[in-house]
Amino acid sequence: MNDFLLSIIIPVFNEEKSIAPLLDRLLLILKPYRWEIIFINDGSKDQTTEEIKKCAQKNKQIKLISFRRNFGHQMALTAGYQYAQGNGVISMDADLQDPPEIIPTMVNKWQKGAKIVYAKRQTREVDNFFKKQTAQFFYRLINFLSDTPIPSDVADYRLLDREVVDFLKHLKEHARFLRGLVAWGSYPTDYVFFKREKRAAGQTHYPFSKMLNFALDGITSFSIKPLRIATYFGFTVATLGFVGIIYTLIRKFIHPQDYVIGWTGLFVGIMFLGGIQLITIGIIGEYVGKIYQEVQNRPQFLVKEKVNL
Ligand code: UDP
Ligand code: MG
Repeated sequence: MNDFLLSIIIPVFNEEKSIAPLLDRLLLILKPYRWEIIFINDGSKDQTTEEIKKCAQKNKQIKLISFRRNFGHQMALTAGYQYAQGNGVISMDADLQDPPEIIPTMVNKWQKGAKIVYAKRQTREVDNFFKKQTAQFFYRLINFLSDTPIPSDVADYRLLDREVVDFLKHLKEHARFLRGLVAWGSYPTDYVFFKREKRAAGQTHYPFSKMLNFALDGITSFSIKPLRIATYFGFTVATLGFVGIIYTLIRKFIHPQDYVIGWTGLFVGIMFLGGIQLITIGIIGEYVGKIYQEVQNRPQFLVKEKVNL
């Protein structure tokens, strides 16, 4: 018998149809271990809470935290890490896209010394072309911009050692891009490969707009390079503008007669500069918004109800 406690934390948002099949598969796999399962109900509007409570009544190792409203996947995970008691903490999706069957392999790698064991997708067969391309572009971009290497093709299915969980608990920032925060600690890392399955039921909660926000959060949490790039760009454009002024003036004085003022150049210049200025303000705004949220310092999430905790 293993003497460690394994915590499984599972954020759920409108996943009523996934709970039962998920627990069926999960409980089978967890038999050899001492375990607890913590569901974090992120403001579900369907029968998710009732489904979980039914199971929690029968088994005290199944626990539930309910948020007052939807605070987002990353906050749900944060709450899970807050409440998990285990020596190892596994986070996974509720929709069975993360197959529980690889948990023993993850545990083995953890017992051999890895503090972080990521489940890494072998293929992205289930994703469409667009998602594949955008995901690849995002990881390239964030790894170019950020000093923290963020592994690609790993989502939030991972095992963390207690040491890493405690480290995460100390990070109080509100914008939580957990994948980045986990990587930021540079703990010994290992991987288990798996094939990501289709959603068991329901729909993804990450449409393109939300993914874009998530990506922006990720980038602005881990890099101030966009600000620097804006600065360099400003210098470059200003230098070009200065050269243009000198050139124009010289031409005007040398050949005043053939100096024709074309408005095309003017128009293009104004549009271009206007665009650059807006983008730059936007970039600054992103960071100012982040600072605003952090200084407000509101609680990261509000708990409405706890079961078996
Ligand atoms: N989720 C959540 N809060 C949200 C959105 C999602 O707790 O606001 C949960 C969801 O129930 C699931 C996990 O986070 O267990 C991952 O979400 P989803 O499967 O929709 O993302 P995808 O796998 O499509 O990227
Ligand atoms: Mg999913």
